[in-house]
Amino acid sequence: MTDENDPSGATPSRRQKQSVTKIGNHALNPSTMMMGFGFDPALSEGSLKPPIFLTSTFVFETAAAGKRFFEGVTGKRPGGAEGLIYSRFNGPNQEILEDRLSIWEGADDALAFSSGMSAIATLFLAFVQPGDVIVHSGPLYAATEGLISKILGKFGVSYVDFPAGATREEIDAVLAQAKAKGRVSLIYLESPANPTNALVDVEAVAAARKAAFSGDDVPPIAMDNTFLGPLWAKPLAQGADLSIYSLTKYAGGHSDLVAGGLVGRKDLINQVRMMRNTIGTICDPNTAWMLLRSLETLELRMDKAGTNAEKVCAFLRDHPKVETVGYLGFLEEGSRQADIYRRHCTGAGSTFSLYLKGGEKEAFAFLDALQIAHLAVSLGGTETLASAPAAMTHLSVPDERKAALGITDNLVRISIGVENPDDLIADFENALKAV
Ligand SMILES: *Cc1c(COP(=O)(O)O)cnc(C)c1O
Repeated sequence: MTDENDPSGATPSRRQKQSVTKIGNHALNPSTMMMGFGFDPALSEGSLKPPIFLTSTFVFETAAAGKRFFEGVTGKRPGGAEGLIYSRFNGPNQEILEDRLSIWEGADDALAFSSGMSAIATLFLAFVQPGDVIVHSGPLYAATEGLISKILGKFGVSYVDFPAGATREEIDAVLAQAKAKGRVSLIYLESPANPTNALVDVEAVAAARKAAFSGDDVPPIAMDNTFLGPLWAKPLAQGADLSIYSLTKYAGGHSDLVAGGLVGRKDLINQVRMMRNTIGTICDPNTAWMLLRSLETLELRMDKAGTNAEKVCAFLRDHPKVETVGYLGFLEEGSRQADIYRRHCTGAGSTFSLYLKGGEKEAFAFLDALQIAHLAVSLGGTETLASAPAAMTHLSVPDERKAALGITDNLVRISIGVENPDDLIADFENALKAV
């Protein structure tokens, strides 16, 4: 996924044999390519798996080669760096990971980060200047909202937001409002939104951008695709330029690492790469190696978690102690959300909202009675997790905003894992008796 003729200071450097992407005319699927793409065992003593390259720096063969690499990494010379230099810029494990991350959304290129938040922060730092306006969908992951309003706000950056399910007309109005405030440097989306599960119409956002901006003023569209990506949603196909991941969640998938990823358009990725090179938000080689292992089972895990969630939600929906289940598989036929789902998503995911009849007392009784599901925040792991957003992740959100977002005391957030679905249903059925 690296282009030796790119002038931007990218670091395409791993010396590898051409990886197999096709057999005759048959293009390989991402799940197959996760086993070998981007790594040549012959370069590592025949080791089937990539070794973990625990090194801070790389030895140049000659002084002239070192100079050439630096000319590439600093953008002084077109062509990009031809070799590895220093582990704050990149390393073999991270490069293999980036190549494999790109595959799922058919992206030009990818970057790996030390966390989802460091990916998001590096993205903002790369594109935003004092006086700029960020347009974003709402709600966002709480730390992202804080980053935009509190931290970027300190540097004179303002924002305008629109609700996740907004129509084309509503998005047009928000873009006009933003343009009147200053230069719009980024359109930032999150879909489905946490914890409402409301979907953003990326196609409508892309069409609205096309109508509102031209020439050099066109702001990139970036979308946090942590909840449904990369299996069930591919926003690059609907007009987003960049897709962002907390790899901590489904991609890592075992609740044992923290990392982030960014995939998308090459020129934009290279801008972010320059910022990452400067501030050092790359993930470490060990984490990159663990993610390579995780990606081998990504489709298996997500498929299983998805069908598990379908079964569990079907059970919960009809239970007398349940008020409602906020699950993407239950969108009302003919609604705007169902229309976005049909155009943008290929699966309902495995993270949903369970509203019990009652309040905090009932939610806590349910959580405390679970025996298989663990009482923890986060999502996308092999194990089922459950938490109470109003009392935990969203505790500091002001009451009015909580009410507007449907973050009530009777809300339990559940991320379904890959356990046996009948066992999960037995666990939930038993816990509901305690309510
Ligand atoms: C967890 C999460 C993040 C932050 O990722 P970290 O890896 O915890 O830094 C960002 N966006 C969404 C939607 C998330 O769920």
